[in-house]
Amino acid sequence: MIDTHSHLDFMNYDKDRDEVIARFFSKGGKAIVNIGVDGETIVSTLELARNFKNIFCAIGYHPHSANNKLSEMLKKRADALKEHAIQNKKVVAIGEVGLDYFHNKKNKEQQKELFIRQLKIAKKTDLPVVIHCRNAYEDLLEIISQDEYKNMKVVVHCYSGNTLQTEGFLSLKNLTFSFTGNITFPKKEDAEIFKVIKMIPLGRIMVETDCPFLAPVPVRGKRNEPLYVKYVIEKISKIKEVTMESLERITDDNACSFFNLSL
Ligand SMILES: [Zn+2]
Repeated sequence: MIDTHSHLDFMNYDKDRDEVIARFFSKGGKAIVNIGVDGETIVSTLELARNFKNIFCAIGYHPHSANNKLSEMLKKRADALKEHAIQNKKVVAIGEVGLDYFHNKKNKEQQKELFIRQLKIAKKTDLPVVIHCRNAYEDLLEIISQDEYKNMKVVVHCYSGNTLQTEGFLSLKNLTFSFTGNITFPKKEDAEIFKVIKMIPLGRIMVETDCPFLAPVPVRGKRNEPLYVKYVIEKISKIKEVTMESLERITDDNACSFFNLSL
């Protein structure tokens, strides 16, 4: 099992980070992709990846960073981001980057600018992109459908689009969907997200925890950790009517090829 989206450098793990990581790798975990989201966590993410053989990382500026000052700052930091991406073998993606109108819909244009700037870095460095998107799937689809970006390898993390939006994203052939603990929350059997998961071919699905957030049932509400990705695998395997073992193998393969991991 591979957790393709974690934030293990966050202070939530300051007391027991090594134990959390050891727990994952001792119970069948193969790799983790930790995500840096701003100046500070890019540094801590790079350090974490340096210290553990099978922890890789993505680095980028989250849409929360989109304000006048940060957009300005990124102009200066874009070169550093590019340098890390080129020189550091543990950097396997640019991200998480994207659009978040749930937290802020007043700075849409700045968010788009920050996102597009980093899409260009990913293209130049030939790295895939980890996308964060909330309440902005239409704008996201419009941007990544442009000729310049439509063939790029991207993953929409914590995917929770509806069936119509999913049809749009499916039309981009290098786009992967990543699911996390929130897919275990709905109680109704006909929940939209289950229909969405049924629509997506197995070869285009990855799994993640987004820990410390979004712990899946049966640990919902607690601090999340990479090992709990098994509950996401279990849920998808039920929806797709395949065994947990085969879903685990398929999602591992998908993650290895998406991030170009050599384990
Ligand atoms: Zn995240």
